[in-house]
Parts: sequence; C-alpha cells; structure tokens
Amino acid sequence: MTHDYGARFDALSQLMKGDSVDALLASVGADLPYLTGYEAMPLERLTMLVVVRGNPPVLLVPELEAPRVVQRPDTFELRPWGETEDPIAIVADLLDGVDSVVIGDQTWATFLLDLERLVPTAGFRIASPLTRELRMRKEGAELDALRRAAHGTDRVAARLQETQFSGLREVDLSRLVSELVVEEGHQVATFAIVASGPNGASPHHEAGKRIIGEGDAVVVDFGGRWDGYCSDTTRTFHVGEPTAEYRRIFAALEEAQTAAVEAVRPGVTAQDVDRTARNLIERAGYGQFFVHRTGHGIGLEAHEHPYIVEGNELVLEPGMTFSIEPGIYLPDRFGMRIEDIVAVTGDGVERLNRSDRSLAIVD
Ligand code: ZN
Ligand code: ZN
Ligand code: ZN
Repeated sequence: MTHDYGARFDALSQLMKGDSVDALLASVGADLPYLTGYEAMPLERLTMLVVVRGNPPVLLVPELEAPRVVQRPDTFELRPWGETEDPIAIVADLLDGVDSVVIGDQTWATFLLDLERLVPTAGFRIASPLTRELRMRKEGAELDALRRAAHGTDRVAARLQETQFSGLREVDLSRLVSELVVEEGHQVATFAIVASGPNGASPHHEAGKRIIGEGDAVVVDFGGRWDGYCSDTTRTFHVGEPTAEYRRIFAALEEAQTAAVEAVRPGVTAQDVDRTARNLIERAGYGQFFVHRTGHGIGLEAHEHPYIVEGNELVLEPGMTFSIEPGIYLPDRFGMRIEDIVAVTGDGVERLNRSDRSLAIVD
C-alpha cells in the first residue's frame, strides 16, 4: 500500500507554519512511518527524521539500516550515518538557528537530553499536538487497511465461538488467538488478552496458567497489524450457561456499547460518546465498575488520538477512527467488555467490526 507522502509533508509544513514551529523531529513512534513509510528500530542507534521548515526533510538512519529504507527522493533526503559518527551532532547541525522544535513523544530521553545540550537556544515540545492534526482523520487507503484488519479479527472472533475453551489454560487460548490473527491475514499479532473467571475483573490481565472451566466468563481482547494498521477487538465468552445476574449485567453493557456507537457522528464531542456509554452503565447500577475510558483512537498505533474520555471536547469529524469498548469489572468475581472499532462517516458511523458481539456460549 502506498500513500501520498508528498501531500503529507505539505500538510505538515502548513501546520508548522500555523503553529510557528521551526522544526519537527520524528524517531520511534508512528509520526515517522506516517511521513516516510519507514519505521525506526527502537535501538540505541539513532533514527531521526529532521524537518526544518523551508528545507528539504532529512532522514538520518544508521548505515546498516539504510538498505531497509524505501527511498523517496522527492520527499526526503536519506542520510545514513556511520558507526563512528555522532548522529546527535548531525541533527544539531541541521537545527542550527532554529528556535521552536517539536519532537516525537516516544523519542528516547537520552537523545532529547543530548540535543538540548547541543542546541541550548532551541525550545523542545512534544510533537503530538501537531501531528495528531495530520493523523487523526484517516485517508481512504488508511480506512481500507483498518477495515481489512478489523474484518480479520471478526473472522477470528467467529472461529472462537466454535472453539472449546474448557480445559485450556489462559496462555494456551492466548497463543491460539494469536495464531488465528495471523491465519486470518494480519502480518503479526500484537496482543491477546485472555482473562477468565475472576481474572476478567482486571481489564489488562496477562494470560496465565489458570485453567478455564465450566461457569467461567472469558474476556478475549486481541489485535494485530495489517499493512501497518492496527486492529483491536474484544469479545466476551461464557463457558456453559451464565447466571441470570451475569446475563442481566451483560445486557446493560451491550446496550451501553450499542448506544455509544450510535452516538458517533460528525459534530458530537469525544466526551459525549463516553457519557452515552457511562450514563447507561451508571443507570444500571454498575458505574463504579466501569473503570476506564470508553475508547481510544487507532491507526498506525493501537492507541492514539482521539481518546473517547470525559474532558475531551474534541469535535468528531469524518475519517476519525477509534474503539468503543465499555466494560464492567466486579472485583474477585468476573468481568465483561465489548470492543469494536468504528469510523466517523460523513453523516454517522461505520462499524469496522461486525462479528457477533452478544455473549457467546462456548464449551
Ligand atoms: Zn485496553
Ligand atoms: Zn482491546
Ligand atoms: Zn482497545
């Protein structure tokens, strides 16, 4: 999949101008692949894109990584650095005379501290307030990639409904989920949370040795990457018949998730969507057990802007993509979560995940 990187650099330079930013530095994180198609290795050897407004962008990479770069001479200049060179000094040279610099949020502190020492006149701020303006509204090709990824996890969810859970350890099921994510087309599975029985009350439980058995609710939250774009879906399963209480609480959760998805459209705020889910769960009497925000943006990163959370007054616009994932967690007893990725359309919402989200009864 190829994108119009030239247009992205043009849009970046407009934003930099508007915000009086002289230079942008992108290293580890998604700003770099968004602008160049190249992803930095998270290593002590520096990879850094240096965009000084008015100059051609320069991509600095360790010489041994240079063969991995797809060169785009129209959009950036490749500058490999040798093992005995000091890459920070090269960046400092490029920043000569620059005042206001934004730097990718996930850049290693060691590089930033060295840069601050070598370029003492420059003020450094994080880049995300600027780069999220570029990345939050997905282009058509990005939406296609997110759709493919979501449909891949939908097929995994459908196959899980036919899987026997009982007798498996959480780690066994987690490994199976990761295998299915790749079988269904992702290049890589990035996570597979399996939280059974009382472990389900911990939203980010790490799959362990607990053996899944009759009467367990099992929260399965998984995703991977497809052409660089992320998927992230949660379905809740139940081994054998759930209690009337579990069914009643799950029905409230399902209602909240559906209402929050239906609240998504251009013009409403991120916090409105969170409130829609939260109000319904509160009304059902479980507000104190919904301990996280309703969702997070998704794209090149599994968690990115916009965050669907109280206090975020960001107005939703077409092309924004994020999760809607309310959950209810009763300590020491059980948990439940339903998560779909959605996209804001011209006049409403598209669910990218379409697999059955009702409580699946498994053996
Ligand atoms: Zn999560
Ligand atoms: Zn998730
Ligand atoms: Zn999520």
